[in-house]
Amino acid sequence: MNKIVSIPERKVPVLTEADVLVCGGGPTGIAAAVSAARHGADVVLIERWPCVGGMGTAALVNGWHRSDRRKVVIYGLVEEAAERARQGGWIEQVANFPEAFETHWFDPEGMKVVYQDMLDEAGVRTFCYLVAGEPITENRRIRGVAVDTKRGTRAILARAVIDATGDGDIAAKAGLPFDYGRASDGRVQGMTMMFRLSGLDPEMVEAHPDDGERVFELMKNLRDQGRLPPFLEAAARSYLLNPRAPDVSYNMCPVAGNALDEEELTRLTAKSRRQVHRYVELWRNEMPGFADVRVEQTGFSLGIRESRRVHGLKTLDAGMVVEAVKQPDAIGHGVWMIDIHDPEGSGHTTWEDQRADAMPPVGESYHIPLGMCLNAHIPNLAVVGRCASSTHEGHSSVRVQTHCMVMGEGVGTCAALALAENVDMERVNVHRLQKTLKADGVYLEDIPE
Ligand SMILES: Cc1cc2nc3c(=O)[nH]c(=O)nc-3n(C[C@H](O)[C@H](O)[C@H](O)COP(=O)(O)OP(=O)(O)OC[C@H]3O[C@@H](n4cnc5c(N)ncnc54)[C@H](O)[C@@H]3O)c2cc1C
Repeated sequence: MNKIVSIPERKVPVLTEADVLVCGGGPTGIAAAVSAARHGADVVLIERWPCVGGMGTAALVNGWHRSDRRKVVIYGLVEEAAERARQGGWIEQVANFPEAFETHWFDPEGMKVVYQDMLDEAGVRTFCYLVAGEPITENRRIRGVAVDTKRGTRAILARAVIDATGDGDIAAKAGLPFDYGRASDGRVQGMTMMFRLSGLDPEMVEAHPDDGERVFELMKNLRDQGRLPPFLEAAARSYLLNPRAPDVSYNMCPVAGNALDEEELTRLTAKSRRQVHRYVELWRNEMPGFADVRVEQTGFSLGIRESRRVHGLKTLDAGMVVEAVKQPDAIGHGVWMIDIHDPEGSGHTTWEDQRADAMPPVGESYHIPLGMCLNAHIPNLAVVGRCASSTHEGHSSVRVQTHCMVMGEGVGTCAALALAENVDMERVNVHRLQKTLKADGVYLEDIPE
């Protein structure tokens, strides 16, 4: 049994108070905070890292999915962020837009600025460098969270709290039930260390497709002999045959483990950084166009796809995704497929199989329901983003950034409406919420009665 010690109860000063406290400044938390603030709420957002943007900036995950392969079905704050990034020269639309799921690639550095501007202009008070700690709960309600500052422990109080930590930290510590990993063995999706290179000569690479195939085969052989770490095959091949702009984020370096164990995460982060240098050394020696490449940057954080999925009033599952199911409490649309990266860390992803039965039909999308973010236990606490209520399979689709931002925008707006009406989020008139979201530019169609 683990050793236990008692920490005496303490009275702590209140650092600040707000209407809405958003914990976690990833794409979801940003959308939640901005939308709540624009609808009149006084909002505080706390983020443990020195920048906002979550995996999208700190882990260099820079692809967006907005299209049902005929038309774009994700607008609202996603469109606004894209437009701001366009003005800054930080986003690129794919050539086969909108026939591809993946619609945009952005520069994570630029997106740090875009997101912070959106928060500042909305009047959100952002505190970076602050971990949301223990929730303060009373009579089945959450009053705020404790934070450890350089000056000691403080409390941040709010009328409503939105857990956008990606890991459901606040919800779990407040006692909400959650699932972790796949049903068969409790393992979560594989993680990836993203990286960027400098010194690439894309024209030279493109002029040598035979070398690209040769080096790809060599990589597979070396991996099979245990002389090269595993890698995501489809991605590695595309980098060797069709190099995109020099600012591409390489998404091919897998590891696997427990996303909630800091010591293990530290080990995996170091291990994956070493893996990155192994692939790059091979490319430098073998592949024309790569002779002068350097690892310019690895993710500030290891890319974590999945951890807790906190039980909500509704649970998004695979059927809802692939059958493009519509929901009365829709707050937006999702398009991405069932995309599971091997929890054993081999680098295989179901995305590579491109199975038609793992994605919504072309030209169709599924609804993201408000109910997956609300729960039956603490009515003034919502859980949004990749920790919202879903099965392992449903999660693998709805976890992508644009979908998480849809969730954030819907729930942030709902929180502000609820506070204005002095009711809990679940009691907000859903038609009014949907009308408000549409007026804000959110794409919302085919809502069943
Ligand atoms: C390698 C990889 C590749 C991916 N590929 C794509 C892709 O191509 N396209 C796509 O759209 N999505 C992709 N995803 C998924 C996507 O990046 C995430 O699922 C998405 O960012 C989730 O958003 P979020 O805001 O819910 O969580 P996160 O992005 O994880 O953000 C959570 C934020 O909360 C902060 N936080 C956590 N705990 C606390 C705490 N206790 N207190 C304060 N702050 C806290 C974190 O620091 C972080 O900033 C990928 C993910 C990975 C890992």
